[in-house]
Amino acid sequence: MRGFRAYYDHGIIIEYGGKRIIVDPLRKPSYSFDAVLVTHGHRDHVSPGAIRGVLPLIMSNETAAIIKARDSMYPKHLAASPGSRLLVNNVFIESFNAGHVIGSLSYVLDFGDLRVGITGDFNVEPSLLLDGARGLDVDVLIMEATYGDPDYVFPSRPEVYNELRAVVEDGTRNGIVLLMGQPLGRGQELTVLLRDYPLYVEPGIKVINNALGIRHGGVLSGFPPAGSVLITGNQGNMVQVIRALRARYGELKAVALSGMYARSSRALRLRYLGIDALPLSSHSDFPGLVDFVLSSGAKFVYTVYGNAVRFAKYLRGELGIMARPLPGSGQLTMDAFLW
Ligand SMILES: [Zn+2]
Repeated sequence: MRGFRAYYDHGIIIEYGGKRIIVDPLRKPSYSFDAVLVTHGHRDHVSPGAIRGVLPLIMSNETAAIIKARDSMYPKHLAASPGSRLLVNNVFIESFNAGHVIGSLSYVLDFGDLRVGITGDFNVEPSLLLDGARGLDVDVLIMEATYGDPDYVFPSRPEVYNELRAVVEDGTRNGIVLLMGQPLGRGQELTVLLRDYPLYVEPGIKVINNALGIRHGGVLSGFPPAGSVLITGNQGNMVQVIRALRARYGELKAVALSGMYARSSRALRLRYLGIDALPLSSHSDFPGLVDFVLSSGAKFVYTVYGNAVRFAKYLRGELGIMARPLPGSGQLTMDAFLW
């Protein structure tokens, strides 16, 4: 493991055995690399400007289709899919289902004498559209920790689906239902879950759905008939939108969907505005993250994103696992975790 380095510098950088691999760069790489990997299509993981002309570039065909549809730029890439093993500049790159959004992958870099896993965002719980992610068999694990705080425990997905269906059933009988969540992820899941209702999907979600072959529902524009379900992204001007819909239809049921609403203070804040909140997430909750670490067999864990500091502390203190937040490039000289 001598000479292994992992750090964050506008993307995750992994160096070992004279190789450098970059994962999810948000800025065009300013130094040499052997491969650039993209885990999934969320904008905080891929930026068209950062990957334009980059070779070799690896991602799933679904992620490439999302980028093409949404950002009008087709990334020329080597296609990876769950179970694939590509040899790129003498590094084997294995791909696994991340269970996060359609096309999302976790990667394992097999350097021969060292296996390094990079989860990207992932979800261990299966959904209507995706299988759950399984622990990666690796020596070093670089994992997301968005909900790496014990406050974040989600109800099971079937429970959330049932609760949501009940809200929609009630809301469409008396007026209109507005559902708000991440366009990539919640957008597709809600569209498929509620396909039997009169659905209207905002253009930013519709374009992704179409690229992925999900055709249910019309395009949301203007005011659809009462009894409809509207699926939109997170509204910046939520209060005005809700006021306008209430004025038009009388009865409105508005629901925001995100894992962050597992924290009751967050959900309460929305209730004051007349918005319900349900913890439907594309990420693992806290127990899911712990379970993933325990099933990976990793000797060293780096945490990144969200509650990275909190989660690494938990792994060290409670489970005795060597874990630390992924350092920034400037912190490397102080990094006692190197070997
Ligand atoms: Zn994501």
